[in-house]
Amino acid sequence: MTTVTTARADRRAADVPSWRPFRVTVARVLRLSPCFLRITFTGDDLDEFGHDGPDQRIKLHLPPAGRPVPHLPATDWYTHYRAADPAERGYVRTYTIRAVRPAAREVDVDFALHGDAGPASAWAGRAVVGQEVALIGPNRLYGSDCRGHEWNPPVDARDVLIAGDETAVPAIGGILERLRGTLPETARLQVFLEVPEAADALTLSAPHQAEITWLPRLRPDGSVAPNGQLLVDAVCGAEFGRGARAAALDASAVDTVDIDLEVLWEVAAGVGSSAYAWIAGEAGAIKTIRRHLVRERGIDKGAVTFMGYWRAGRSED
Ligand SMILES: Cc1cc2nc3c(=O)[nH]c(=O)nc-3n(C[C@H](O)[C@H](O)[C@H](O)COP(=O)(O)OP(=O)(O)OC[C@H]3O[C@@H](n4cnc5c(N)ncnc54)[C@H](O)[C@@H]3O)c2cc1C
Repeated sequence: MTTVTTARADRRAADVPSWRPFRVTVARVLRLSPCFLRITFTGDDLDEFGHDGPDQRIKLHLPPAGRPVPHLPATDWYTHYRAADPAERGYVRTYTIRAVRPAAREVDVDFALHGDAGPASAWAGRAVVGQEVALIGPNRLYGSDCRGHEWNPPVDARDVLIAGDETAVPAIGGILERLRGTLPETARLQVFLEVPEAADALTLSAPHQAEITWLPRLRPDGSVAPNGQLLVDAVCGAEFGRGARAAALDASAVDTVDIDLEVLWEVAAGVGSSAYAWIAGEAGAIKTIRRHLVRERGIDKGAVTFMGYWRAGRSED
């Protein structure tokens, strides 16, 4: 009897994908600042949308211009998407869940608008209530962690650094909310956020230990700092990681990632040190920060998560 029950459970788990497409409708559009736009999506089955980590990533599936969003099957959606005619399949882009309200069947996504250069930013900038798209995301029915999130500090984290550009602000907002009341009283939490302009400094709910520094690229004199420069300067100048020196510096591995060919994505083990950093943004800036922290300062790569969220001059395709 036990054997039969277990076999059924195994079969059900194997049949239920950890991620699947959800067809959704734009329910609300809220301008948070010059750069940030919050879109609330609603859908009949959004009560099944999962949310396993504060930096939970998802995919936005947009239709080709003037067409409905193409159907993707629940199982193996990515293979079907890649196999479809590029002119017909629409666009898939990566975003972060800012909030999920299963009872209301709603999901919020915060878009950092960057004009019409990409289909996702262009779509979001013109989104209106009632428009249909698809979100591809964690499936609550899967029954365990669906993955797609990287925030993983050690339980005794006392020296925490979080840094990102505007594309990482939604994830950082979620992380700071999650951190409230969980950090040791004496912990240091430094947060650096590079954004287009001062008015993009959002009000974030954060632990009282948080030292939040917004880094607007648009200066009072009207000049604009290059993308990523302020973030690089801030993180490289921060006091962080004294207790996270690598036993043997692995300098040879630091510069091996070609950010024009592969995604810069290294996830900290989250154990073994009370120092922990989570850093995301434009891949060139993240590579410079990684080189500084790991090679020049000798900080253990296992204590820092580095993520190239986008690459200047390259579409996500
Ligand atoms: C895990 C993860 C989570 C993310 N979460 C979010 C999120 O919550 N909110 C969010 O806004 N973005 C987020 N991003 C970043 C987002 O996926 C990219 O900005 C994406 O390229 C946008 O798609 P697009 O169609 O607008 O532009 P694409 O078609 O991908 O690119 C077109 C052009 O625009 C440039 N470009 C792309 N993004 C930007 C930018 N932000 N500023 C200036 N130029 C840009 C590219 O270099 C390219 O030249 C996330 C990325 C990852 C990997």
